[in-house]
Amino acid sequence: MKKSPAHRCRDIERQAGYLQPEHCAPPLTRPRSDAMWFIRDCCGIVCGVITWCLVFYAEFVVLFVMLLPAKNLLYSLINGALFSTLAFLALASHARAMCTDPGAVPKGNATKEFIESLQLKPGQVVYKCPKCCSIKPDRAHHCSVCKRCIKKMDHHCPWVNNCVGEKNQKFFVLFTVSVFSLECCYFTFSPPATVILLIFLCFEGLLFLIFTSVMFGTQVHSICTDETGIEQLKKEERRWVKRTKWMNMRVVFGHPFSIAWLSPFATPDHGKADYYQYVV
Ligand SMILES: [Zn+2]
Ligand SMILES: [Zn+2]
Repeated sequence: MKKSPAHRCRDIERQAGYLQPEHCAPPLTRPRSDAMWFIRDCCGIVCGVITWCLVFYAEFVVLFVMLLPAKNLLYSLINGALFSTLAFLALASHARAMCTDPGAVPKGNATKEFIESLQLKPGQVVYKCPKCCSIKPDRAHHCSVCKRCIKKMDHHCPWVNNCVGEKNQKFFVLFTVSVFSLECCYFTFSPPATVILLIFLCFEGLLFLIFTSVMFGTQVHSICTDETGIEQLKKEERRWVKRTKWMNMRVVFGHPFSIAWLSPFATPDHGKADYYQYVV
């Protein structure tokens, strides 16, 4: 079989014999499965805090500068409630996207016992990540910021200080949708009293509007085509089953379709399947 360049890019330790499991001691402290996921990356933390500040700033300006001085009380109440709900949803989905394990592969699981437990048949190979000493499931990629291999990694987003992967893509999409709607609301309100505020708001609003609409578009495209951002960039050969667009949406948002799709508090069910083996 002719191998594509992307194939050759993958890690070279392909056969169990070359995996050197003795070099991969399991980590001394086993990470607790219920421990909160949080990436200690200065740049990501700063970007995350900036995002929260921008949402709070928008909430403050809309409530106290735009709506409170407005003469129509009903107008102010309805719009204030709508804007605050969207701001709350944006912050909640941001927090869930940031603090949900995106699908990390257990660190240092490339041990002799684990490889033996996979019971590889002839023709089946496993990949080892030399950076985090883990057995890489199919479609997993190593993230240098998270220092872990992430299943179905799309990209590392500093704005949510986390990777966007199999388990938190729903929250990331909800975050882009709620910020986008927030910004659309923004431009329907009457302009604030001072020019400086207006310039600030328009700048922030436009920036967010462009950023979130581009992000939302690329996310929906990658979900529908079932091809992560990295796979599109690397032009990886498709080894996985092709499903309909609707099925792909259901995989990310958890099935079946319900109002829970829009809730940042409902965790989608991804099942327990781990695909470690590759057939060549
Ligand atoms: Zn890795
Ligand atoms: Zn990452």
